[in-house]
Formats: sequence, structure tokens, C-alpha cells
Amino acid sequence: MTVNSEMVKTIVLNIAKTIEENKQYLTDLDAAIGDGDHGSNLNKGFLKAEEKLNSSEFNTIGDILKAVATTLISNVGGASGPLYGTFFLKAGTFAKDMKEMDFKDFCNMFEAGVEGVKMRGKSDINEKTMLDVLIPALKSYKASLDNDEECKDAFKKAVDIAKERVEFTKTIIATKGRASYLGERSLGHIDPGAMSSFYIVEAIYLYFKGEN
Ligand code: ADP
Ligand code: MG
Repeated sequence: MTVNSEMVKTIVLNIAKTIEENKQYLTDLDAAIGDGDHGSNLNKGFLKAEEKLNSSEFNTIGDILKAVATTLISNVGGASGPLYGTFFLKAGTFAKDMKEMDFKDFCNMFEAGVEGVKMRGKSDINEKTMLDVLIPALKSYKASLDNDEECKDAFKKAVDIAKERVEFTKTIIATKGRASYLGERSLGHIDPGAMSSFYIVEAIYLYFKGEN
């Protein structure tokens, strides 16, 4: 598999599209255990990112991801703006001068993004956040890389795991972010950030499956 700058741009535009399509659901999830702005926050940021990607020329994968990062950081209110912003910033820093990359680079780039979220959020797996999807997805990508699996299979496996992990967030108590104020009352609800991270992992899969 080779991913080039144009493909990365298309994948980001597809992420923007799926966030827009699901913004009401994300906001409803956030209304249950937060303040009901996750869908509108992210939609606003990704629409701006879309505008930016469509209005300028970008050379490298790093340039594209950094443009997305700065747009998210300055346009998305709430916790998720800086967190997803950091994800794209760290991924973009990894991909700095690259015009194309292979699946191994993709895994390392994704890892750089996940490590960025952990650092910025002072958070880890099992705290009922986006990391409950991002960390297992990363683990799945890496296992597929180690097993020399076809990329299409690798992206599909990660989506299946991400879906399970979204459901899993219902069973745990939030210890980070706004939902942590609810303590046990956060049980039984899907974490909105885990859901939006699922849409990102899914958009990557669908691109390579050739549906988008
Ligand atoms: P806010 O909570 O400020 O309104 P959003 O509603 O946009 O921000 O995003 C909430 C999501 O952000 C949560 O569902 C969770 O997944 C994620 N989140 C919050 N705090 C953290 C953290 N410290 N680390 C990782 N993710 C976090
Ligand atoms: Mg919120």
C-alpha cells in the first residue's frame, strides 16, 4: 500500500463528511454525559479544515495534516479541539516531508497521533474517552503489520475492534473530561469522543475499501 498526499486529503474530506452526517448523534451522546456540543464542535472544525484543504495547494502529507491540526485547534471549542488538533499535529510532524508512505509509516504516524492525545489529555485507555477507540485501533494496525496482512484486511479489523470498543465505553466510568463529573452516572452511555474516533477509523477503512 502506498498513500500519497492526494489520498490523505481525500480521507480527511471523507472524515469531514461523516462527522457532518453524524453530528446530531454525536451531540446527542454528549448531551447525555457532557454539555451537548461534541457534534457541532467537530463539524465546525472539520468544515473549516475542508475549506482550507480545498483553497490551498499542499505538497506533503505533513503539510496537509498540520493545516488540519491548526484549523481544529483554533475552531473547535471544548476538549476535543485541542485533543484532535494534537492528534493531527503529531501525525503531521511524523509525516513532515513525506509525499507518500507505506502501511508501516501509516502505523507509525497513527501512533504519533495517539501518543500526542495521551500526552495532551493526560489520559490513557479505559477512561471512557476517544482513546478507548484510538489505542485499540492502533494496536490492531500494528498486529496486522507484524503479521504481514493485506492493508484492506488490516483496516477492516481495526474498524471491527473500534466498533466493539465504542460499545465497551458504556460499561466503564469516565475518569477524564466533563463526563467524569458524573461518576457512576456516566455508566450505560457511549462516550461521544469514542464514537467520533470510530468515524475516523471507519473513514480510513472505507477509503481503502473503495466506497468513498
Ligand atoms: P467538552 O467536553 O469540552 O465539551 P467535547 O464535547 O467536544 O468537549 O468532547 C468531549 C470528548 O472529549 C469526550 O467524549 C472524550 O472522548 C474526549 N476527552 C475529554 N477529555 C479527554 C482527555 N483528557 N483525554 C482524552 N479524551 C478526552
Ligand atoms: Mg461537550
